[in-house]
Amino acid sequence: MNLLSKNSLAVHLLRIIFGSYFVVTLIVTCLQLAAEYQHTKTGIDSELMAMDLTFGASLASATWRFQGDVQKATLTGISNLPVVTGVKIEDPQGRLVLALGNIFDSDGKQIHVDADGVRSPVSAGFLNAAIGHHFPILYRDEHDRSHDIGSWTVYSSRHVVVKKVAYGFTLILINSIIKTLVLWFIFLYVFHRWLGAPITKLSSFVREQDLNQPGTRQGIELPGRKRHELHFLAEAINAMLASLRQHMAQNRALYGELEQEKESLRALNKSLELRIAERTRDLAQANEQLRSLSLTDALTGISNRRCFDQTLEQEWRRCARNGRPMTVALFDVDWFKHYNDHYGHIAGDDVLRQVAGMLQQSVGRAGDTVARYGGEEFALIASDTDTGSGLNVVHRMCDAIFSLNIPHALSTFERITVSVGVASCVPPLHEGNVSILLHAADAALYRAKLSGRNQVLVAQWPLPATLKKAGDGA
Ligand code: GH3
Ligand code: MG
Ligand code: MG
Repeated sequence: MNLLSKNSLAVHLLRIIFGSYFVVTLIVTCLQLAAEYQHTKTGIDSELMAMDLTFGASLASATWRFQGDVQKATLTGISNLPVVTGVKIEDPQGRLVLALGNIFDSDGKQIHVDADGVRSPVSAGFLNAAIGHHFPILYRDEHDRSHDIGSWTVYSSRHVVVKKVAYGFTLILINSIIKTLVLWFIFLYVFHRWLGAPITKLSSFVREQDLNQPGTRQGIELPGRKRHELHFLAEAINAMLASLRQHMAQNRALYGELEQEKESLRALNKSLELRIAERTRDLAQANEQLRSLSLTDALTGISNRRCFDQTLEQEWRRCARNGRPMTVALFDVDWFKHYNDHYGHIAGDDVLRQVAGMLQQSVGRAGDTVARYGGEEFALIASDTDTGSGLNVVHRMCDAIFSLNIPHALSTFERITVSVGVASCVPPLHEGNVSILLHAADAALYRAKLSGRNQVLVAQWPLPATLKKAGDGA
């Protein structure tokens, strides 16, 4: 930083120090000036007082003898003295006899009288204020008698005092200015050399430090053999930077480890997510399989009794809401016990599979449900289907079974046939439940069996009272 820069610490300190110094010097100089002024004024007073001893006798003699020339010459001599600004002689009545320079006339006005006796007014002012001493003119004759023959007054002025003081003051002032300037430059240099420059060096060193760059300077050393506070400050900064660098290095290492950990955690998280997604998919598939298994008949692969019950309830409520008819049919394989007995249970199972497959295949619409109701009994749920349509579907299914032409030696029809009970209704909204329809279909099936099998019978509607009772109780 420049020695005389506005922001220099040296200039700042000097402003404070020399500002204070200037104020103190000013006060002291003023006091000194006042004392000097007073001292000089007293000296001039004494000089004026002493003039009576010097000039009193000659003035008295000249006045007594009316020697005007002598009087005038004496006054001229007095007025030429450096401290004298004026002198006058008055008669005993106070009338002005002779005067020279600045004097006060009998009216008390300050006037100037030149060598020719011409009077001119003197302007009033601080410096023109007169200091006067009045002496009587006493003449002693040869009999040693004293005669009062007038008086004389000698004047000086503040201007004379100030002129005398000004000289001494000018010396003091020049002295002070020289001292101040010399000291100012010495102080400026010293402050800059031992304070400003090292601090600038320290601050630029600290500013250029980049703790993330290991290559930057390791420390700072201030010049000078004698160690002082700034050297201690430099040591403290070096120690602090060393500790900061160490911490930064540790932080960098930790940060690197953290990043690695984060990366491995991210990878772990990703693999976990994948595994979870895989497991969730497997679970969903397993759930779907379970749900499907829980609703599927293991032997035949068509819907089981649970699925039938759920579907029947749903369709019953839906048709009730929509005011639509629904049809339920119960199929029972004829003389199946005999078939088992004759052909074996395994062959019986196979027949059940074939019958189920054909029923499923020949059903009217995709929305219709064919289920294994139990043992060798099957059931059909056909929604939005009245008796007529339902019968059409059921006959088609029976024909399909018949056309399978599965031999049954112990059947009247020599092949596998089914008997069917069909019941249809529009489900009531608020009364009755689905079992009434099932009972009706079962009753019709029962009648079909009794009527010789291999036939389809429709439930009598309305139902007989016994059936209604059974349905209500269910
Ligand atoms: P009908 O119905 O014509 O009156 O005579 P049916 O012989 O079919 O009568 P029933 O209901 O008494 O016999 C049903 C037989 O079905 C009894 C049982 O051995 C047989 N059955 C039930 N479930 C299965 C099964 O899963 N597999 C086999 N193979 N047979 C079954
Ligand atoms: Mg049966
Ligand atoms: Mg049967």
